[in-house]
Amino acid sequence: VRVEDKLFQNRYLVDAGRPHIKVAPHETPSAALLALTRICPAKCYEQNERGQVEITPDGCMECGTCRVLCEAKGEIEWNYPRGGFGVLFKFG
Ligand code: SF4
Repeated sequence: VRVEDKLFQNRYLVDAGRPHIKVAPHETPSAALLALTRICPAKCYEQNERGQVEITPDGCMECGTCRVLCEAKGEIEWNYPRGGFGVLFKFG
């Protein structure tokens, strides 16, 4: 079974209007922020046409990679989704 097929079994409940991760305003993204566009397993991060990094946290698996890389430097704000929202993992 491919990893992608397993991930497809997870479900995600969007908390509309209350993103649990936010990217701090910036002109030019740091190397770490830019790296998130490649390493986020859920592909939540993208560069916009001005080169800035944006996030759409729908589908985030709460793996914590972006938190480890960018939260301490204040480049992103990271909170767990409210109870009942976010990823619902299917095990087995
Ligand atoms: Fe992507 Fe993981 Fe960050 Fe969620 S916690 S946005 S899946 S890197």
